[in-house]
Amino acid sequence: MSDIPLSQPDITDREIDAVVQTLRSGRLSIGPKLEEFEDEVARRSQRREGIGVSSGTSGLHLVLLALGIGPGDEVITTPFSFVASANCILMVGATPVFVDICPKSLNMDPAKVEAAVTDKTKAIIAVEVFGNTTHMAALEGLARKHEVALIEDCCEALGGTASCGRAAGSFGRAGVFGFYPNKQITTGEGGMIVTDDDHLAERCRSLRNQGRATGAHVGTDKNAGSWLAHERLGYNYRLSEINAALGLVQMQRLDEMLEARRTVAGLYMRRLMDWDDLVLPTIEPGAEATMSWFVFVLRLTANYGHTERDRIIQGMKRHEIGASNYFPCIHLQPFYRQQFGFQKGDFPIAESISERTIALPFFNSLDATQVELVCHTLKVMIQREQLLKRD
Ligand SMILES: *Cc1c(COP(=O)(O)O)cnc(C)c1O
Repeated sequence: MSDIPLSQPDITDREIDAVVQTLRSGRLSIGPKLEEFEDEVARRSQRREGIGVSSGTSGLHLVLLALGIGPGDEVITTPFSFVASANCILMVGATPVFVDICPKSLNMDPAKVEAAVTDKTKAIIAVEVFGNTTHMAALEGLARKHEVALIEDCCEALGGTASCGRAAGSFGRAGVFGFYPNKQITTGEGGMIVTDDDHLAERCRSLRNQGRATGAHVGTDKNAGSWLAHERLGYNYRLSEINAALGLVQMQRLDEMLEARRTVAGLYMRRLMDWDDLVLPTIEPGAEATMSWFVFVLRLTANYGHTERDRIIQGMKRHEIGASNYFPCIHLQPFYRQQFGFQKGDFPIAESISERTIALPFFNSLDATQVELVCHTLKVMIQREQLLKRD
């Protein structure tokens, strides 16, 4: 591992004790911890229902299935995201329709979303890229106007609030969170669907549990359905009690963790503010104080390209400092090029930004000395590029 890794989960004795207690309880799946964790995430995202699942990806998959989206349907989404936000569309056999992004928020441009709506459009998957909630209210309005479902991929935005005062996860038919170890909170692996739609919630609960009727429990018929009655084709996308116990403590510590992340982001912002070669993250006015920081991603100005950017990242890594190129465009991934014939130039804003981004080390315990070392090394690597350009 690097001296300063790109990310690092924040696990205290409280999480460890909760996991050990659950192991001792003998109840390792479908139990009280899951329900508590679901309630906590739902409450935090201003939703009635939370449905814990095995990952963010499985959550997105289930929402599309539960909405009945399939072959012949189009789903509008962004090419500038983690690949799962588009893969879920392929998992149900529907067609992803990408639209270009807004260069400030890095989220989909609402005007371009509206222009992409056709008779076949069934849903919009709006990603809050790097935790930024900008345009979610506008996209929700658009979805309502065109009578299509808005699905909020809020995997990167847990605990954040948009400038309109609404929580990440509260927009559209359903939101989906992810709890992989680099996210704001982790369950090791895990995810959560949140919604106000009881019918949708029930369908997702059934689908995550092998298509059983909701309320079916091992060894009992007294609930709504029997354990071995399967009403529909389902999946095993359950979240174990061990994961849920970990997630519950993380949720209890969420405010403290978000505050630590805000402090680290502030340290970077102040240190890098005056550098002419860099474009820093833009937060929607009014949401600065409530932004849930997922990662710290800046970009080089347009006089740099991906060759320089990649060399800078390599240089950081040679100095034992984690850095990454979040995100390579989804439409240019080998699989998408092959399958759909996408090429360079299809989404010029997303492509141009994607070639110049650098994610810096970002985690709760990162201190001022480490931030200084990261920024100093970044500066040296940029100066080296300027030297190489001169020759
Ligand atoms: C993390 C993430 C997901 C889900 O990831 P999992 O690893 O499946 O939990 C989905 N979409 C986005 C934008 C993400 O960042």
